[in-house]
Amino acid sequence: DVSENHNKGFKGHDMLAPFTAGWQTNDLHPLVIEKSEGSYVYDTNGKKYLDALAGLWCTALGGNEPRLVAAATKQLNTLPFYHSFWNRTTKPSLDLAKELLETFTATKMAKVFFTNSGSEANDTQVKLIWYYNNALGRPNKKKFIARAKSYHGSTLIAASLSGLPALHQNFDLPAPFVLHTDCPHYWRYRLPDETEEEFSTRLADNLENLILKEGPETIAAFIAEPLMGAGGVIPPPATYFEKIQAIVRKYDILFIADEVICAFGRLGTLFGCDKYNIKPDLVSIAKALSSGYMPIGAVLVSPEVSDVIYSQSNKLGSFSHGFTYSGHPVSCAVALETLKIYKESNIVEQVKSISPRFQNGIKAYSDSPIIGEIRGTGLILGTEFTDNKSPNDLFPTEWGIGAYFGAECEKNGMLVRVAGDNIMMSPPFIMTPDEVDKLISIYGKALKATEERVKE
Ligand code: PLP
Repeated sequence: DVSENHNKGFKGHDMLAPFTAGWQTNDLHPLVIEKSEGSYVYDTNGKKYLDALAGLWCTALGGNEPRLVAAATKQLNTLPFYHSFWNRTTKPSLDLAKELLETFTATKMAKVFFTNSGSEANDTQVKLIWYYNNALGRPNKKKFIARAKSYHGSTLIAASLSGLPALHQNFDLPAPFVLHTDCPHYWRYRLPDETEEEFSTRLADNLENLILKEGPETIAAFIAEPLMGAGGVIPPPATYFEKIQAIVRKYDILFIADEVICAFGRLGTLFGCDKYNIKPDLVSIAKALSSGYMPIGAVLVSPEVSDVIYSQSNKLGSFSHGFTYSGHPVSCAVALETLKIYKESNIVEQVKSISPRFQNGIKAYSDSPIIGEIRGTGLILGTEFTDNKSPNDLFPTEWGIGAYFGAECEKNGMLVRVAGDNIMMSPPFIMTPDEVDKLISIYGKALKATEERVKE
């Protein structure tokens, strides 16, 4: 049962690391970050931290890339703002759309819709697909299937799609048109003696059963992160996407790839879709699109979907959707320069060359008695603390093991993401070997201190 499994291994998500942004107050004595430089950030006391999460999974080029500053400055001096409504637009947004369509090659994409964030990109997905199905005369094909422990954002619809309980409880979410299927976490949810392939088959069967129970004619789309990020860094098990995609296709359901974390090299491939052979109809991107320097997100839309929307828009009325800052010229200019740097510096090769050091260095700690599982690929890693190497032997929430580990990292000059007893890291793509070694050594120190704490 999906809902029963929702919280397993993710207790204390709220209590120990408030999933809260936006409140700005000194009451909680926040760590105030003032400056960044390469893979480091500095607080207001001048203390230096290795930024092991790249801001919030986004500053792929690190903290002070001068070309991005120059691109922003130049655009600010030329045209700081113009909108993209009513067939008016700006050159940076046109150029960026063209560049993105050439960059994404897993499937052919025809149109780009700009937003300010990943959440808005996923909200836009829902509106695009509803409009598409209305245009095709099938207004009942409106439900979305997402997965337990996924993260798709914080706006009402993106939070509904997300499969983390903290985003639903107290908000009357998820919205009724959103269904959740299994989280594809083999280590936690496999049956005894089940192989990865068998696990994937069972999850695909469960998805098919859910579709049949609801009625395939009511299901519009399936949304998935190629590798789940905020849910604890969960790579898909072997054959998972192959089997899931076959089911989705069988019932004429669109596939949305949420590439907000995976895109632009994070997994050692340009997109997560390239790594797992995903052929999506629509894609959401944000974060590393501008290396986090300016807020920007985007939806890429296949010709099959966009042709219907375009050809029908006179009958249905226009696709009335968009934001003041959709295609913001400064964000687009910075994103264009970011993509140029990725290309010129062959960023995917850079990630591939540094990631074995990162992966092997951290995974060498797998034998620790308090680590249940370390998982990841490329430049993304999750650590889950459990007892006895078992997914079921969770440490008592009140021990705050994950929070303790995070605090030890911070003390030793490194910032990681803590969610319950899950630790997540996604360092900048520009990390040097020395910085990777430093990251591994601070992780080791924090681990040792946390092991001592558990013994007490
Ligand atoms: N989708 C994924 C996979 C994410 O990881 C995130 C943010 O972490 C989002 C969507 C939401 O993006 P934003 O915070 O820019 O709204």
